[in-house]
Amino acid sequence: MGRIYNFSAGPATLPVEVLEQARDEMLDWNGRGSSVMEVSHRSKAFIKVAEQAESDLRELMAVPDDYAVLFLQGGATQQFALIPMNLSTPEQGVDYLVTGQWSKKATAEARTLRRVHIVADGASLNFADVPSRSSWDLSPDAAYVHYCPNETIGGLEFHDVPDVGAVPLVADMSSTILSRPVDVRKFGLIYAGAQKNIGPAGLVVMIVRRDLLERVQTTVPNILRFASHAKEGSMLNTPPTFSWYVAGLVFAWLKRQGGLGRIGEVNKRKAEKLYRAIDESGYYRNPVAPAYRSWMNVPFTLPDAGLDAAFLAEAAEAGLAELKGHRSVGGMRASIYNAMPEAGVDSLISFMADFARRHG
Ligand SMILES: *Cc1c(COP(=O)(O)O)cnc(C)c1O
Repeated sequence: MGRIYNFSAGPATLPVEVLEQARDEMLDWNGRGSSVMEVSHRSKAFIKVAEQAESDLRELMAVPDDYAVLFLQGGATQQFALIPMNLSTPEQGVDYLVTGQWSKKATAEARTLRRVHIVADGASLNFADVPSRSSWDLSPDAAYVHYCPNETIGGLEFHDVPDVGAVPLVADMSSTILSRPVDVRKFGLIYAGAQKNIGPAGLVVMIVRRDLLERVQTTVPNILRFASHAKEGSMLNTPPTFSWYVAGLVFAWLKRQGGLGRIGEVNKRKAEKLYRAIDESGYYRNPVAPAYRSWMNVPFTLPDAGLDAAFLAEAAEAGLAELKGHRSVGGMRASIYNAMPEAGVDSLISFMADFARRHG
C-alpha cells in the first residue's frame, strides 16, 4: 500500500520529504551512529539543531528581536492555564473572545485562575460566524485579550488580525501557524501545539514579546514561568528533542517551498477550490459564514447523515483517510494543512463529486 492522503485534524500529515529525511537519519544521524533521540539535549550537535530551528522559524515569520521564541511542552491546553499565570496577576481581569470549542476551553481554564471578561461569544451563532466587531466589549484595563485565530473544530478562521487597541493580543495559533504570513508585531503572545502545522505532538512553539515575560509573579513555580524557559533557551529541563528536530526539518522544508507568502497562496487556492466544490455541488454543505471560512479545516455535511458511514468507507478505499468530523459537529472535516499536497485536495474533490453522483 502506498501513502494515503491523510486529512486528520491532528496529529496531522507531515511532508513526505521530512519523513524520508527523518527515516534516513534514524539509525545514523550526522555520522554519529545513533539517532537524534539518543543524544543529550545539551550536546553541541543538538544545540545546533535547536538553534537552527529557532533561526529558521524567526526567518519564516519575520519575528522581531524583542520577541522570544520558546519550545515548550504540555500541549496548547497547558498554555490555557500558564498564560493567565504568566501574563496577569490575580487582581487583574483578562479578556476572552469565544468563537468556537478551543477558545471556549481556553476561557474555561482561565476562569479557574482569573476574573474573565467575555468580549463576545459566538455560541448563539452556532460558532458558524463571529459576532459583529461593533458589538465587541473590550476592557481597556485587561491584562490581555485572548482569541483563537483558527477554530480547528468548527472550521472558522479570522482572515485579519482583530484590532484590540493597546492591550496585548494573545493568539492560540495551533492550527493556523505558518499557513500564511502574519505580522508578529500585532501580537503580545502567539502559541501553537506542534501537531497540526509544525511537527510531531509533544512540542509547543511560543513567540512572546520579551517585556511581557517580566509580568510573572514569584508565586508561580519556576518550571511554569515562560521567563525562566526563555532565560535557559527552552532547556530548563529536557525538551522533546525528537519533536524539536522534526519541527526544524519542517521549517527547512517551508523555506524550500518559498516561505509563507508562497505557502499562503497555495493554501488559499486549496481551500477555495474545496469550498467551491462544496457550494456548487448542491449536495454538500459548509455552515460557516464565507468571510470566516478556514483555509485549514473544512467541515462539511452530506444531505443525509445516514450516508456518512458509506462516504467514509468509500473515501478510505480511495486512499482518502481521516475525514470523519469532530464528534461535537458531526459530518465530515477535511484538514488541509501545509503538508497536504494540492493533489490530495484535487483527489478529494473528484471523489466527492463521484460520490454525490452515485448517491444523490
Ligand atoms: C489541537 C488544538 C488544541 C489542543 O492542543 P493539545 O496539544 O492537545 O493541548 C488547542 N487549540 C487549538 C486551536 C487546537 O487546534
